[in-house]
Amino acid sequence: MATVSFRKIEKAYGKVKVIHGIGFDIADGEFVVLVGPSGCGKSTLLRMLAGLEEISGGEILIDSKVVNELESKDRDIAMVFQSYALYPHMTVRDNMAFSLKLRRADPKLTDERVNDAARILNLDALLDRFPRELSGGQRQRVAMGRAIVRDPKVFLFDEPLSNLDAKLRVAMRAEIKALHQRLKTTTVYVTHDQIEAMTMADRIVVMHDGIVEQIGTPLELYDRPGNLFVAQFIGSPAMNVIAGTLRGANASTVVEAADTRWPVPPQIGGAAGRSVHYGIRPGDIHLAPNGQGIAAKVIVVEPTGAETELLLQVGDAQLIAVIHGRTAAQPDETVHLAIDPAKAHVFDSASGKRLSQ
Ligand code: ADP
Ligand code: MG
Repeated sequence: MATVSFRKIEKAYGKVKVIHGIGFDIADGEFVVLVGPSGCGKSTLLRMLAGLEEISGGEILIDSKVVNELESKDRDIAMVFQSYALYPHMTVRDNMAFSLKLRRADPKLTDERVNDAARILNLDALLDRFPRELSGGQRQRVAMGRAIVRDPKVFLFDEPLSNLDAKLRVAMRAEIKALHQRLKTTTVYVTHDQIEAMTMADRIVVMHDGIVEQIGTPLELYDRPGNLFVAQFIGSPAMNVIAGTLRGANASTVVEAADTRWPVPPQIGGAAGRSVHYGIRPGDIHLAPNGQGIAAKVIVVEPTGAETELLLQVGDAQLIAVIHGRTAAQPDETVHLAIDPAKAHVFDSASGKRLSQ
């Protein structure tokens, strides 16, 4: 078990800077997910923690000890990659035992560790098979088994589920989470998939272009995204965002956008006339009875059974609404929208920063 700290971490490849001073702490036993679009620097940050990549600036600490100069093999971490790279000529048992054999660990201890890991991962019956005799999901479990037998201080995962089909990905997501609940090993998990981040993380670090946009629990990021980037990256379908202007004062404040006055939460920072972006999540738009509320033209109706997704036109803006259950609304019809002011988000257009509480 271990804590991890990043302090003002920078990384440059030649003259190109790709990480611009990242700092945050990971608590002992925490499951932290680094999420962000492809190329934002997630793998680079993880590889610096693993000791596979030189650190250009700042410090990384494991258990309060600076590890910048420590070799990868001495950092007591285990990493699982997207390509699980098992040794094809070795059985599952030998693949899992390999790192301990390299370290000349006691064979009895090695056997025990491999058997324990196999039991945890449901691989008991597969120990004598070769990788080619396994499914993709089973191979990924062996890759995790290899990490577990080392009993490391920290687990690192870099997009470990990207090669699996959608159904298996969901199943493995739950397995990794269950594994963490059982072993409680500090874990840093990288993904570009915000749903993976939301479902697995104790805390999420949202990265973008080599910086941290926001750190928080999944629901903190969902309920109070600190800026437009996080607002549109977290949540599916994405938050509706329309450009507008703040009007009125105090209790009568609204956002005027797309020829419409949109309700906002109380205590918005910023004066009337300010350019803002108005945000509302698809699930926070409801159909209002009796023609009250904001008029919208229905463009597309997509029933999925439990919910109905509507593509709507309001003025020159298009919005997505996810209605719980079913609706009789048809394309070209006008419906009316009810929005709870407390569920709306307001961002400063220039800085992208959140203005609502
Ligand atoms: P992510 O894992 O978030 O997709 P990476 O950490 O792999 O992003 O890459 C971050 C940036 O660093 C990208 O712009 C990428 O092109 C660049 N990069 C990564 N590795 C190297 C390298 N070995 N040499 C030069 N540039 C690199
Ligand atoms: Mg990557």
